[in-house]
Amino acid sequence: MEINVLYLGKIFCKRDNLVRCEDTGTMIQSPISAILIRHPQIGNILYDTGNSPDYKQDYPVPVQETYPVSEFISIEDALQQQGLTVNDIDMLILSHLHFDHAGGLGYFKGTKAIQNVVVSEDELKDAYFRVMTGQGGAYVKELFDIDGIRYVPYQEELRLAEDVLLFAQKSHTAGCTGMVLDTEQQGTMIVTSDTVYTEDNYKQELPPGGSINATTEEFYTNLERIKKMQVELDAKLVYGHDFEQIMQLSKCTLA
Ligand SMILES: [Zn+2]
Repeated sequence: MEINVLYLGKIFCKRDNLVRCEDTGTMIQSPISAILIRHPQIGNILYDTGNSPDYKQDYPVPVQETYPVSEFISIEDALQQQGLTVNDIDMLILSHLHFDHAGGLGYFKGTKAIQNVVVSEDELKDAYFRVMTGQGGAYVKELFDIDGIRYVPYQEELRLAEDVLLFAQKSHTAGCTGMVLDTEQQGTMIVTSDTVYTEDNYKQELPPGGSINATTEEFYTNLERIKKMQVELDAKLVYGHDFEQIMQLSKCTLA
């Protein structure tokens, strides 16, 4: 198994949105990323797809104001850097359906990958419920309700292979998919997605501020679970929006 963290540009957001703090005004840069896994049995797996190329038209004004896109790198270009096209992807996994993770799905229209989009069942249901009841927020229906898409939902856990396990987290969203990857050289890696945005959230046990995360209880319950897993598996963590980490990981191939 070979793993590449793909850097897909960045958005601005309030510092407090990522890590709760006194400073609710300062805007900081938050990286957008995806993870490419070249797997010997499954083929090419892509976890998340980044922003939409049409973010200026697609994203509602409040989303654009709260999270302005300051750099856009398309998933198509990032895959090209890896010598791949959208047609080479065998399976898509969406950590959750927010705009900065599901926004690149449109590139996969008509490919085999769009027939095989793994997402937690709770996430899929809640995303549709929200967009159909005027509570979309960071969910934008046009981005994930696309022509020809076939979702493959799972509950709780889904073992894709001996060395790839997906698990649904009830934090950040109704079903945010984390991933455990067992690699030969790096050992075990736990990909948290947005339940743990940054190292500060994890090490200092600081919950995010902002309006997306309704309660801090969910954050702490999930954090406890991740910390337990980390110890049991002696794992390295990969956070959802940690600038330094994503820049560093995106420079090399992990195996
Ligand atoms: Zn995100």
